[in-house]
Amino acid sequence: MKLKLFFIIIIAAGLILFIGCADIADLPEESQTEEMAEIPEEPLFDVPRDYKHDNIEIFEVSCNCYFLINRETKEVVIIDPGDRFVMLRNACNDNGLIPAAILFTHGHIDHIAAGEDLRRALQAPVYSWHEEEYNFFNNAVMKNITWFTEETVLELAGFKIEVIHTPGHTIGSVCYYIKELNILFSGDTMFRQTYGRTDFETGNYNEIVESFRDKLFVLPGGTIVYPGHGEITTVSFEKQNNPMSKYINNK
Ligand SMILES: [Zn+2]
Ligand SMILES: [Zn+2]
Repeated sequence: MKLKLFFIIIIAAGLILFIGCADIADLPEESQTEEMAEIPEEPLFDVPRDYKHDNIEIFEVSCNCYFLINRETKEVVIIDPGDRFVMLRNACNDNGLIPAAILFTHGHIDHIAAGEDLRRALQAPVYSWHEEEYNFFNNAVMKNITWFTEETVLELAGFKIEVIHTPGHTIGSVCYYIKELNILFSGDTMFRQTYGRTDFETGNYNEIVESFRDKLFVLPGGTIVYPGHGEITTVSFEKQNNPMSKYINNK
């Protein structure tokens, strides 16, 4: 009897935790707090103490999912929905957000798993880089994707979003740069103090080196970097602390 009660308490606690996680207002706060708690262990350099950006909500799913929100129009661009369809759909609907697009940084399953369900539920256009990246999406039965075949500037939700092709982690990996907001969504290419694995299908170490050297390290140092996993960082912090910094020209 006591054992039964114990299990009921465990299930109830789990349920409360689950419901709590679905709250758009709480989630970014919590994830920020966890991330910030670890930062003082490292030299700070010019990393901002508060990464909160008025236009961005962060969801920790199977990857970092970002909502880029135009607070005036309530339009939202969803970057890498990961695996949490219901949570993200509700986050849109419950907050009256108008889906402008779903963007993928690359085709790995931890970034795209909820993509097709979300596309259908929100009726939002989907964008990704083509090349061989489409193989990953075919495996996940993703449909109606608008493929980039060259670097371009998207105008979505009132933002100018530059598509930067950064192969290396996968051949079709991209980063999304919004100059006016000083932010970069770096997918699995740039992480805080490290970089994406290059030993998966279509990965290439030399290409990720070039992507860092020629595409990412040339961005303004104060650019805040929102990666596909882990903690938020800045371009200048990575130029000091990322293993890829040894490839910067003239260093
Ligand atoms: Zn990946
Ligand atoms: Zn990933």
